[in-house]
Amino acid sequence: MTDRHSFETVAIHAGNTADPLTGAVVPPIYQVSTYKQDGVGGLRGGYEYSRSGNPTRTALEENLAALEGGRRGLAFASGLAAEDCLLRALLGPGDHVVIPDDAYGGTFRLFAKVVSRWGVDYSVADTSDPAAVRAAVNERTKIIWVETPSNPLLGITDIAAVADIARTTGVRLVVDNTFASPYLQQPLALGADIVVHSTTKYMGGHSDVVGGALITSDESLADELAFHQNAMGAVAGPFDAWLVLRGIKTLAVRMDRHSENATRVTELLTRHPRVTRVLYPGLPGHPGHETAAKQMKAFGGMVSFEVEGGEEAAVAVCDRTKVFTLGESLGGVESLIEHPGRMTHASVAGSALEVPAGLVRLSVGIEAADDLLADLKQALG
Ligand SMILES: *Cc1c(COP(=O)(O)O)cnc(C)c1O
Repeated sequence: MTDRHSFETVAIHAGNTADPLTGAVVPPIYQVSTYKQDGVGGLRGGYEYSRSGNPTRTALEENLAALEGGRRGLAFASGLAAEDCLLRALLGPGDHVVIPDDAYGGTFRLFAKVVSRWGVDYSVADTSDPAAVRAAVNERTKIIWVETPSNPLLGITDIAAVADIARTTGVRLVVDNTFASPYLQQPLALGADIVVHSTTKYMGGHSDVVGGALITSDESLADELAFHQNAMGAVAGPFDAWLVLRGIKTLAVRMDRHSENATRVTELLTRHPRVTRVLYPGLPGHPGHETAAKQMKAFGGMVSFEVEGGEEAAVAVCDRTKVFTLGESLGGVESLIEHPGRMTHASVAGSALEVPAGLVRLSVGIEAADDLLADLKQALG
């Protein structure tokens, strides 16, 4: 499937083999905890207990691996559960990690407030500058963590360039591919060792499920991660796995439309007199534009901007939209607006990852672009 078919086809078919019992064309939700054994140890299809394995989750995990061009995929209860599993599997006391200066607030919180308590320290680097990444690596470094495009400043990291640094220094490169999705960007093919997802976002795509994933082509690392997934237990439940699998079938058409609508939105924002800065990798003036054009198929649905008047003005814009819903999260079919400083990124206040107070973040949905533009126009006044 992976080698012979295009992404759209793989998204719909990988892992989605017809149910052997009934021929159901969609994997059933195996809402079950345990499985009858045919004599002690006589497992059917390897299933024993649903923390260790569940057929609906297996379908999703096979699909995720195929989409990222990896050998193995693992599905978790949330993006942060996936990250936690990865960090506990790879790190021990005395280890060091390089993290980006712009990242999902919860990822930073995991490093700063949880992992750091076990004797793991971190350096914050501008990962859009490979030299800064190289300078931050020391003899104790085990992981370089990259998020591209980044949240919420839409910074771009050259994955292949950082992968070179990781390879030559013997460090593992982790790429959080949540903002791009595997349709727009393939980090493993660019040299990353592990891809992380919050499947809550574009993969699920409908704001109705929380989930996470890890994908790798390294079989021994995958065995290690799978051991920790089972040992720690933060797995995706069968219904959640099914919802993500269903969402993925339309990922390609959704991402095309998200990218088109976001481009229209940036055309409005860049011309608007009250908007002082627009952050979108699709804009030729964006510092990461050329790298994004090289490593992404399109530029995605996330747009951030600053309005004149600072924090109060930004919050007022968020309060006035009617089609854009004021809310956290992203990647659903419906457009969302938020104020990162007070909402998603409140946990990075006072750190090197603090975001501008006048910043507004949009998750541009797949509604009619004209309705979105009219809504933003009235909200900006
Ligand atoms: C939301 C998000 C996460 C965390 O995922 P959850 O599913 O909320 O636990 C991690 N990285 C990025 C880029 C995100 O947007």
